[in-house]
Amino acid sequence: MNASVSLGRLRLDVVSDGYFLQDAGGVFGLVPRTLWEPAAGSPDAFNRMHIALNCLLVRGDGRTMLIDTGAGSKIAPDRRERAYPGDYGYLLGNLAALGVAPTDVDLVINTHLHFDHCGWNTASVHGAPIPTFPNARYLINRIEWQDATHPNERTRATYLGDNLTPLEDGGQLELVEGEHQVTAAVRFLPAPGHTDGHSAVVIEDGGERAVYIGDLVQHAAQLERAAWVSAFDTLPLVSMETKKRIVSDAIRTGSLIISPHIDFPGVGRLREQEGRTRWVAEAGL
Ligand SMILES: [Zn+2]
Repeated sequence: MNASVSLGRLRLDVVSDGYFLQDAGGVFGLVPRTLWEPAAGSPDAFNRMHIALNCLLVRGDGRTMLIDTGAGSKIAPDRRERAYPGDYGYLLGNLAALGVAPTDVDLVINTHLHFDHCGWNTASVHGAPIPTFPNARYLINRIEWQDATHPNERTRATYLGDNLTPLEDGGQLELVEGEHQVTAAVRFLPAPGHTDGHSAVVIEDGGERAVYIGDLVQHAAQLERAAWVSAFDTLPLVSMETKKRIVSDAIRTGSLIISPHIDFPGVGRLREQEGRTRWVAEAGL
C-alpha cells in the first residue's frame, strides 16, 4: 500500500510495511477501557489492536530519503507469533511499486529504534543482517542510539541488535545531537517522551509544512487528548508536554501530520473545534 502527497517541490509517499498487533492496554496506558473503547473501537478477542506501519519516502532535489523502516523481515515466524504478532515485511515490495530500489535510497532517518521503526534498517542475507540500503547514511539521535545499544530490562525486547550493529560495522551510521537540519527542507527535531532520544521529522517547502510524528501517539484519539499517554512511553509526563507543543504548532501552522501508527496512510490535520482538538484524516488518499 502506498499513498502520495505533494508538499512544495517534494513528493511524499507513505509506504506501508504492513501492521502489527499491539495490546490495547499498552497503547492506552492509564486510560480505562470504558473511556478509550468508544473513541478507538473494540480490540480483538486477545485485547489487541491493529497498529499500522507507515514509513515515509521523501523525494525531491535529487534526494531519496526514507523515514522509519517498519518491522522488517528478520523476525522468525514462531517468534513473531509469541512476541511480535502481525503481518509485516512489505516495505521493499511497496518501494519497488514506486520504482524505488534499495540502492536508490541515500538517507534513512529513524525517529527512534524500537523494533517497529527500524526493522528494515537491515535485511538478512545468508542468515546474517546487513544494511538494506547500501548507499544510505542512517541518521539517528545520539541519545537514542546510546539507549538502544545499552538496553535495560524493560527495553531489551524492543531494541534488537540486528537492526543496529550492522550500520556501525558498515560505517553508514550518522549520530546527531539536538535539532538537526538535514536538507533545506527536512529537519530532525527532538520530541522526547516515548523515549528520551525520540525525534520527529519536520518537512517544509513552498510554504507548506508536514510533521512525521513518530511515536508521539499510537492512535489518533491520543492526538486529541493531551493526557492520553501510552504505557510504552518511558517518560510519560515529558511525552505529554512534547505532544502539547507539537499539536499546538501543527494547529497554528495548519501542518500535515503523518503518523507511523494511525490507520494507513496515517495522514491528516489537527483542527481546533469548539475548544477541542480534532484529528481530521486527509481526504482522497
Ligand atoms: Zn512504534
